[in-house]
Amino acid sequence: MKIITLSFDDGTIHDAQLIDMLKTYRMPATFFLNSGRRGNEYMSSYTPYAAHEIGSHSINHPHISDLTLQEVRDDKFSLEQMSGQDVVGFAYPFGEYSEEAADMAQESGMRYARTVAWNTTNFDMPKDRFAWQPTCHYSHALKALREFNRSRTAQLFSIWGHSYEMAGIKPYDKKANWEYMYELLLELSMADALFLTHADVLCL
Ligand SMILES: [Zn+2]
Repeated sequence: MKIITLSFDDGTIHDAQLIDMLKTYRMPATFFLNSGRRGNEYMSSYTPYAAHEIGSHSINHPHISDLTLQEVRDDKFSLEQMSGQDVVGFAYPFGEYSEEAADMAQESGMRYARTVAWNTTNFDMPKDRFAWQPTCHYSHALKALREFNRSRTAQLFSIWGHSYEMAGIKPYDKKANWEYMYELLLELSMADALFLTHADVLCL
């Protein structure tokens, strides 16, 4: 069975609308949150994420050179306290990967760590679960979906992005707005695939 995963970073208030849309299709997703980022721009409650996986994205979203083991550990702890979920996944802030950061994720008790990829059609399972590269950014996913549907060897279609991009704030692609997202989710819902969180993929 083919698998589709969806993950979204940064926990801004636009996640609320995205979660509503995901609910329509009963699609689970993974949301990578920064426990230290609070205030008007960010989700004030983690309750809306209850049907989804919560992952760590570090406390304050530093660049990789400033990331510390303490920051990853404390973020995991805070997110678990605030959400009541086990946090087993990490997404590198800014998608910046390093072996040191992968070690930090592992030492903090994470079971996987996600990087970023913009526009690939790689549908393989992750070879290194601490360098889990998604297939593509959501703005390229509609196009990649056709290939995923056609392929007989595709295993995993892993899509990532930010809900604030859909809301038009710092968009990577101006056309990848809410309307695009509705279309993407509708098309995805018709794919012959199982929707899982990142953590669930590792439990298979
Ligand atoms: Zn981020």
